[in-house]
Amino acid sequence: MRANPQKSLSFLAYILLAGTALGVGACASRAVDVAPDSSGSLAGAPALSGPCAGNTSFQVGSGVYDITGPAAELGMMGYARIDQKTAGIHLRLRARAFVIATPCNGQRVVFVSADVGQVFQVIKQQVMAKLQTAYGSTYTDANVILSATHTHSGPGGDSHYALYNLTILGFDQQNLDAVVHGIYQAIVRAHNNLGAGTITVASGDLTDASINRSPNAYLRNPAAERVQYASDTNTLMTLLRLQKSTGLEIGAINWFAVHGTSMGNDNHLISGDNKGYAAYLFEKAKESNYVADETFVAAFAQSDEGDSTPNIFGGTNGGGANDFDSTALAAQKQYHKALALYNSATEPLVGGVDYRHEYVQMDAVQVAPAWTDGVARTTCPAAIGISMLAGAEDGPGFGREGFTCEAVHTLWTAFTCAGTQTACQGEKPIVLEMGSQTPYPWSPEVLPLQLVTIGNLALVATPFEVTTMAGRRLRHTVMTQLGSAGVTRVVIVGLANAYAGYMTTREEYAQQDYEGASTHFGPWQLAAVQQEMDKLAVVLRDNLSVAAGPTPRDLSCCQITLQTGVVFDDKPLGRNFGSVITDANASYNRGQTVTVVFWGGHPKNNLRIQDSFLQVQQKNTDGTWSVVAYDWDWETKYTWTRDNCFPTFACSRNTVQWTIPSTAAPGTYRIRHDGTWKSGLNGSLNPYFGLSREFTVN
Ligand SMILES: [Zn+2]
Repeated sequence: MRANPQKSLSFLAYILLAGTALGVGACASRAVDVAPDSSGSLAGAPALSGPCAGNTSFQVGSGVYDITGPAAELGMMGYARIDQKTAGIHLRLRARAFVIATPCNGQRVVFVSADVGQVFQVIKQQVMAKLQTAYGSTYTDANVILSATHTHSGPGGDSHYALYNLTILGFDQQNLDAVVHGIYQAIVRAHNNLGAGTITVASGDLTDASINRSPNAYLRNPAAERVQYASDTNTLMTLLRLQKSTGLEIGAINWFAVHGTSMGNDNHLISGDNKGYAAYLFEKAKESNYVADETFVAAFAQSDEGDSTPNIFGGTNGGGANDFDSTALAAQKQYHKALALYNSATEPLVGGVDYRHEYVQMDAVQVAPAWTDGVARTTCPAAIGISMLAGAEDGPGFGREGFTCEAVHTLWTAFTCAGTQTACQGEKPIVLEMGSQTPYPWSPEVLPLQLVTIGNLALVATPFEVTTMAGRRLRHTVMTQLGSAGVTRVVIVGLANAYAGYMTTREEYAQQDYEGASTHFGPWQLAAVQQEMDKLAVVLRDNLSVAAGPTPRDLSCCQITLQTGVVFDDKPLGRNFGSVITDANASYNRGQTVTVVFWGGHPKNNLRIQDSFLQVQQKNTDGTWSVVAYDWDWETKYTWTRDNCFPTFACSRNTVQWTIPSTAAPGTYRIRHDGTWKSGLNGSLNPYFGLSREFTVN
């Protein structure tokens, strides 16, 4: 039976209208070609035996780079609100990269944690193209993991698939370029910094930083399974400490499962949310330099966070007086836990690096009875259920969650379920079948599955948001095959290498909460992924190869955008770009907030990558100025607003705020704003800056 999407909701009408706008453009590419064999490593010895048995000698390198996209007038990615557009910066977004190699078998792997909502397929495709231009076959799909922190406060439009650009008003080349360029530059730095070193590991529970946002779905898992676990979220943080043989500390990676939803859906400032701020806190403590080629890099990476929220008081309540406070609370918990693990990490990783990777036609997996309820099953064409429109607890949308066609109880459910179900998708009342849209699907179906071992640690990377119990089952599948080979820890790497919604257990799926409704490939998606990961684990263990699988389509051909560029910038007569509108007071006490407003240009004119829209400057005794804060610092906010300066409506107010920290030294300060304005005469881009008056901090 074919899905027949309901058309009665206004949001759906919008989707369908938007789809009409976005669905045009012929695209001949199909996802059936077979890629060159880049599915895994066979050149070297097995990673857990032979010359790598007992190995603790690694090569390690780290790098960090700015990926902050347009800071004004671009839809934000995460909450699917059309009216949530960027209007400034609280924290800059960064890509944090690590290269880890083992001379014992000549293998290496790249791990990147990026402050983005999702690492869309096109991001991996374009980063790999750059890497292969620079380094040939050193880096392939198989040994590069790109994982999203899942911040909901970054700019969007960086997908080639329509579903993820709907509420952004289409594709945005400038944002995609910023993300791809920054991830690539972070990897280049890690590559260049590679040197002999060690990796130590520690793990521990962080129990007050997350709750399960779909407890009723979780409760559908068998009691005998639930009783094995103390919590309905994954509370384990696993941390790697990377250090050069010279003693230089080069970084840390930790994985902890919690959504990047501390900042709410009314926020318009770019932010890395709780993981971005936790990374900033760790790097600040290590005195990292964001523009240096080599510096300490602390990645707070995402794991199986599908049903895990930082809003531990329910709904959107993270315990703070506002979004910023809630973000700080969630970040500080993760930072303090990570720092404690870092300082206690003495257990070395043992073994070599190895990896296996395959592309899977996720909507057509034949799932063997061993992975299901004892019956052969298949996955389904990608579709979302009605509850997806309700949003999750930390970003409410239309309607309510849990609309399932498991049993039809009321006239309304009977009405809604009629014609919206397929035999394959089971309890899901289908609101949109992305997989059957033409000329190409609205979400990807050829998807990457990847298994990496770094010594006795296994990383299971999928393009999904994996729920707590689904993560446990997947780790168990991998451990069953690799435990005997020496693997002692298995970590789920979340939102990796592409993005295609959620992955719940079969039982949770029946509840059709937000996560089940967003499990694209039907009730047996997790079983299919378990089956495939089992296969990858066996071939890695036995040092065998695996077929690369079909190649994901390239949709560079077919992008539609409704994004507005900057036509030109204007300012009121008699004022200059950089002129002060509202100046600082003469003096402040610590804890107060300095606010200075400047006439200026549109931030899309120059993203100021690896740079800043603002500086807080302190006067030295010799009259020179030192910078004490930038636009990526927690205590500053850069805000952009359009000003209707008649008759052009093209003026920009650029506001700089500095909340003076309690640690600020008394003295004389000033605020500087930097930007670029675009000429209406010849389109030239012109840098400018403005300065506030000098003021004192007491
Ligand atoms: Zn999510």
